[in-house]
Amino acid sequence: MLRILRTRLSLGHRTAPLPKPGEQPVAEGFRGLPVLSPGRCFEGCRACEEACPVSAIRCGEGGPRLDLGTCLFCPECERACPNGCIGFSREHRLAATRREDLVIGPGSGPPPVKPLEGELKSLFSRSLKLRQVSAGGCNGCEAELIVTGTLVFDFPRFGVQFVASPRHADALVVTGPVSKNMLVALEKSYAALPPPKLVIACGACAIGGGPFRGSPEAHDGVGSILPVDLWIPGCPPHPWTIVDGILRLMGVLEGSNG
Ligand code: SF4
Ligand code: SF4
Repeated sequence: MLRILRTRLSLGHRTAPLPKPGEQPVAEGFRGLPVLSPGRCFEGCRACEEACPVSAIRCGEGGPRLDLGTCLFCPECERACPNGCIGFSREHRLAATRREDLVIGPGSGPPPVKPLEGELKSLFSRSLKLRQVSAGGCNGCEAELIVTGTLVFDFPRFGVQFVASPRHADALVVTGPVSKNMLVALEKSYAALPPPKLVIACGACAIGGGPFRGSPEAHDGVGSILPVDLWIPGCPPHPWTIVDGILRLMGVLEGSNG
């Protein structure tokens, strides 16, 4: 027993502090916020558009524009570009409160998250209980959500926890493109949440269908089914992207570009 205690003490405190603005807590090689160069595209070049498996990038005047909500961060566009116009930073702050803010161009920074206000702020800024609904995804997003509760990220230190019933939840976290078979379960879960309630779309599938976009068996995401309060891009999103987005929504972290 003494040996166990000694070992435990020697391990010390392993929970990571919240990243400060500009800090990149993610590993080398992580593909975060894309960096798009203006005005360097060859005329008529559509190499990135043609390479993208989900039509997340468009070329136009002023350089490429990329939809973070559709992007799988794969990164075929970067490989295809003959002119080095596309790269990926290690910026993990990708979430947004407005869907349209996920479309970025050359020079864009992290999308803004508008913190909760009024009653929602007073109710949820220090305690937010989440009910996760896996609506037909691959389990990648679910795995990253689970990681947020582990020792390193320790989401519960901010009052954020997953609960077993939607009746005990403040927010629904939806993953997956919303398969036809999961539609009723999702709607019933949402109805069971006591008001006021929030909806968080986590991952490319929940935002717009991800790699399943256009499938007759799915709904291309939760946006056309429920009112979404926070969009968290990624396939899957990094746990820091999830933590950052939700804490900016709660007002724990600075709400805008930080
Ligand atoms: S990184 Fe995103 S935009 Fe680029 S090819 Fe992959 S899915 Fe398309
Ligand atoms: S967004 Fe990617 S990781 Fe998440 S469920 Fe869809 S395919 Fe899986």
